[in-house]
Amino acid sequence: MRVQKPATLVLYCAAMLACASLPTVSAAQSRADSALTAFIAKIRSVDNHSHANSVAPGDSDADALALDGIPFELPVPLRPDNPVWLEAYRALYRYPYADLSGAHMKMLRASMQSVSKNQGDNFPTWILDHVGTEVLLANRMAMGPGLPAPRFRWVSYVDALLLPLSNKAEAAVSPDREKLYPLEEKLFRRYLADLKLANTPATLASYLTTVITPTLESQRRAGCVAVKFEAAYLRALDFGEASPAAASAIYEKYSQGGEPTHAEYKTLQDFLFRYIAREAGRLGMAVHIHSFEAFGNTYSVTGADPLLLESAFNDPALSKTNFVIIHGGGIFASHTAAMLWKPNVYADMSMMTLAYTPARLAEVLRGWLTQYPEKVMFGSDAFGLGPDMGWELSAWISAKNGRTALAIALTDMIRNGEVSRTRAEEIATMVLRTNASKLYDLGLD
Ligand SMILES: [Zn+2]
Repeated sequence: MRVQKPATLVLYCAAMLACASLPTVSAAQSRADSALTAFIAKIRSVDNHSHANSVAPGDSDADALALDGIPFELPVPLRPDNPVWLEAYRALYRYPYADLSGAHMKMLRASMQSVSKNQGDNFPTWILDHVGTEVLLANRMAMGPGLPAPRFRWVSYVDALLLPLSNKAEAAVSPDREKLYPLEEKLFRRYLADLKLANTPATLASYLTTVITPTLESQRRAGCVAVKFEAAYLRALDFGEASPAAASAIYEKYSQGGEPTHAEYKTLQDFLFRYIAREAGRLGMAVHIHSFEAFGNTYSVTGADPLLLESAFNDPALSKTNFVIIHGGGIFASHTAAMLWKPNVYADMSMMTLAYTPARLAEVLRGWLTQYPEKVMFGSDAFGLGPDMGWELSAWISAKNGRTALAIALTDMIRNGEVSRTRAEEIATMVLRTNASKLYDLGLD
């Protein structure tokens, strides 16, 4: 520990007072049984959802819908002045101070740079080892250097495949969508280029067989374990039934130009969503669907409700497709609980591990775990929030909060006589590790 100057000590005390005023963390931790907490701390997890960065400079293959251009309000737990970031610096980088003064931040940046330089290509694996994660699913446009299997597994993005027509009217719906649609169009052109196609095929049948299926097959060959829809950023999740004839007519009318109406485009997208989900199931890939109350000042929370997916979940043609409600629906967690009754629907806790307190997340988990413990998975949504807030820090915070919340929920269940101590340990292992291992066939005990 370095010698601290008086000015620093003042900051140190202020920081400690701030910590002392955070009852959610300390009270939450004391609510959990200490032996169960220690058991949970030792489980090497599978992280169902993250945005891990590769070590490529600039890492341009990361997020399909990078949110840099979209304004949104950060909730308190995600703000840079939240003490949890300081805790993460101390844990990961042995940061010795209890403040983030300019001079200390300079030292912190130097040690962050030196770790990433010394680790080189191993830096992402170093992160997994430091946050207790054995296998991490990385949601990316493509994998990259530093993210090798089997520790890192790929989850691709497939929304672009829903959007083969002009997106002008869809993009005009909100300021957020105006920024996001061009990013999907860019990925769509990349998918065509990967297939050596200069243009969108003229018929729906050929679009399905020469673009969608080959793209999904090539993702699977590249090790993809799931495909991800971020559709809630772009439209509502009400992917209804659509007849092939109606979808074909719309596709053929506009595939070479012209502006579909919103209703026409929705019908085509509904059809394509179910086609992609069916193909993903056939190829052994799960379907991940973003469902949360964020991000974006003009994001439509109403359209992100997992209940809107019920008709797709019920489609007999999709019975071999496993769906995962990513972020557990957030504010709609009870609706997610209702969807868990369906045999092919799962949920993860990602992002709730960052945006909610452990006590609040524990309430969510409690509801799910009393009914379907085999359908619930740990996830972090680890992502880089800024220059001093790389994905390793949100991975650490998520791991800590997720494990704390799980310990609280299971402790409450033991104390209420709902589960035995042994069963609580089993459930903890399932949630953190074996449920995901089974779903993605990772072969972990
Ligand atoms: Zn995410």
